[in-house]
Amino acid sequence: MLPLAAEIDRSDRVPDRLVRRLAEERFLGLGIPAQWDGVAADSRSISAVLEELSRASAAVAVLVAVHLSVCAAPILTRGTEGQKARYLGPLARGEIIGAFGLTEPGAGSDTARIATRYREGAEGFTLDGTKMFTSSAVSAGVILVFATRDPALGHRGITAFLVPAGSPGFSVAQRFDKLGLRGSETTELVLHDVRLPRDARLGAEGEGLRIALGALTGGRVGIASCALGVAQAAFDEMRRAVARDDAEWKRPILARAFAELAAARALVERAAERKDAGEPFVTDASVAKLAASRAAVTIATAGIDVGAPESSRAGATAERLWRDARVFPIVEGTTEIQELILARELLDPPDGPKL
Ligand SMILES: Cc1cc2nc3c(=O)[nH]c(=O)nc-3n(C[C@H](O)[C@H](O)[C@H](O)COP(=O)(O)OP(=O)(O)OC[C@H]3O[C@@H](n4cnc5c(N)ncnc54)[C@H](O)[C@@H]3O)c2cc1C
Repeated sequence: MLPLAAEIDRSDRVPDRLVRRLAEERFLGLGIPAQWDGVAADSRSISAVLEELSRASAAVAVLVAVHLSVCAAPILTRGTEGQKARYLGPLARGEIIGAFGLTEPGAGSDTARIATRYREGAEGFTLDGTKMFTSSAVSAGVILVFATRDPALGHRGITAFLVPAGSPGFSVAQRFDKLGLRGSETTELVLHDVRLPRDARLGAEGEGLRIALGALTGGRVGIASCALGVAQAAFDEMRRAVARDDAEWKRPILARAFAELAAARALVERAAERKDAGEPFVTDASVAKLAASRAAVTIATAGIDVGAPESSRAGATAERLWRDARVFPIVEGTTEIQELILARELLDPPDGPKL
């Protein structure tokens, strides 16, 4: 039998038995209040759990991170009592998985360009459009979907909707085979005349992009924790490879990897601490995501050199970690987008004095 991480890597989704186990361990209720069967947990604790899960399998950690940070968290902060009662219990108990549908064929980093349309009628809303690269969507019970009343309105036209998976008109056009995070299900979704009741809208009309970007800022701490787990796993693998070998040139590489890992961990912890303290954490979250995804890529890449030639074989742990690491600079805001956010915050802070 394959080790579990390798089995997940060969699949295009996290196996159901593992999702059930995540639910039993109550990882799918972290940060959701006890009244909905969740488990009290601050960002530091959630970050530690995501790091450890990701150390074993980044695909599993990303499923949990998306479920908690960009689906359950916005329902908790922006949902009506009815929406919370309907979704938070099943999400916390792991009866349903949460997903997030923002990216489209023509809108990735430039989120205001989304073209999925909604129309409002007497009965509620009708959605039409396509969502790309939606994690966990096939297995999800609910997807937070963003749609515009009219693309000409830009960010002001965007509204958030809670779409139950399996709604009539909702279909999966394709599942993507990917470089890394292979066991994390990633799909193209088509919404064709998907009818939703009035209470499917999350937040106010036109507030969708604010909800999306707020969720992504919080989610960035979680995704940075997942990247950190991959960096730690790549470091563990590298240390084993160096310990087996008496080549002197490998030792400073191991030392540099250790320093990079420690620096990234400190930055991720700092972002989580500031979030827990209720302090502004936009810059901290972007710095943490930049540092942790860079550490994952740098350490996993050096790990291939140190462990060569075995490390470069398909199916080697170092090879899987290298592929998984490479996805983190892309997801939940690319490296360039984090740099743009940082530059904006540094030069034009919303609450601070101008430089
Ligand atoms: C494994 C995986 C899972 C994902 N899961 C989800 C999900 O669950 N839900 C969801 O909504 N999306 C998801 N995504 C999509 C992801 O968030 C986008 O891929 C990402 O936001 C980038 O968008 P894009 O791919 O369209 O690239 P683009 O935005 O087209 O960017 C292409 C390149 O140009 C750069 N670039 C873009 N704009 C600028 C700029 N102004 N200045 C400088 N450089 C720029 C980018 O940094 C990037 O390098 C997932 C993606 C992957 C790979």
